[in-house]
Amino acid sequence: MLDPFGEEAKRIVREFGGIEALLERIPRYVGIDIVLERVKQWEGEIPERILNMTPHEDVMSFYALLGALAFSPYGAEMELVKRTNARIYRERIKRSGEITGISIPLKKIEKGEIPDRDRIILEKPRHEEITEEEREKLKLKYKMSLPSFLRLWEGSLKSVYIRKGNAYLREEQALELWEKAFERNLERSVNLLYELRDELPPYYSELHEKLGEIARKYFKERIGGFSGEAQPLRFELFPPCIKNALAGVPAGLRNYAITVLLTSFLSYARICPNPPRKDVRIKDCISDLSVIEKEILPIIIEAGNRCKPPLFEDQPHEIKNIWYHLGFGLTDKPRLEDSGNSTWYFPPNCDKIRANAPQLCKPDSHCRPIKNPLTYYLRRLYIESRKAGGGGDNE
Ligand code: SF4
Repeated sequence: MLDPFGEEAKRIVREFGGIEALLERIPRYVGIDIVLERVKQWEGEIPERILNMTPHEDVMSFYALLGALAFSPYGAEMELVKRTNARIYRERIKRSGEITGISIPLKKIEKGEIPDRDRIILEKPRHEEITEEEREKLKLKYKMSLPSFLRLWEGSLKSVYIRKGNAYLREEQALELWEKAFERNLERSVNLLYELRDELPPYYSELHEKLGEIARKYFKERIGGFSGEAQPLRFELFPPCIKNALAGVPAGLRNYAITVLLTSFLSYARICPNPPRKDVRIKDCISDLSVIEKEILPIIIEAGNRCKPPLFEDQPHEIKNIWYHLGFGLTDKPRLEDSGNSTWYFPPNCDKIRANAPQLCKPDSHCRPIKNPLTYYLRRLYIESRKAGGGGDNE
């Protein structure tokens, strides 16, 4: 199979009854070791066994990785899965000799579609110094409608031949586009599965743990920068709704913006950006309360003071509610051991925010693939870490 998000893969997922049903059944059919083979062949050749998997085996082992990524979207694990699996499918596409049936709407070029004079300039057939191999690389082989092309292309338009509403592509350019689509589809799927992670069989958390070990080994020099790790807050990467809440809000929105949204977002983003499960407690993640008292609480209080009228002047008891939302019960003198007395509220999903406080949600381009402000932040940290590591911008 050439693309885990292409038509054939979609048909197989449908055969199983959809992605949730597929993830339920995978543990019965595919061992964790087999799945991990897909991310282990970093240095040498890709084993033939992986390149020659049957479509069903391929879909199941690949979607098993997606299930594991639901536990830490935008961490080193995602980077590992993206890189290794893009390499597998790229190799398969190259071997097939033709890029068809994949998740981008590529078409073959009809004979005579490109005027000869343009072909001569672009493909250089009269340049005798060009080797056969290089000549093959210069050939325009595929086309794509301009709107679809522009949604994926990030390079300069000068390097692309555009004519009558189509972009005409060399094989390498087509593969580059496919890889971009692959990354976006993978991200989109993981964001969907993120919502379901608590319902997934234990197989996936075990797989996630092993994936983490491999990823840590591979990215050992920059693992600290990946989004899955607790690290100082980067305000410039916060989503618009959080920035709006930080700026202070009017009376009707204060409790939701400050106590519900900011408290949950800041605490998870700072302490536990990739919680292993939904019922995690603060005491599972830190050994004393200083990070809350010295870093998180002052930000929440300042944002409350920026509200009109200031929230905590009006409602001093709301501080207790903040601790309640952090999982310490209704108190103003929390101790670490009290964590778990109430639920540590997870940041609400975007659709809830839009329903409860539409004024806060002013989406930007990073909001497109995400469903929760925390994953927005993780995604932006991930993009930053890729840039820092020379992996290129994921946008
Ligand atoms: S789409 Fe989500 S993350 Fe983006 S501003 Fe709206 S609520 Fe926030």
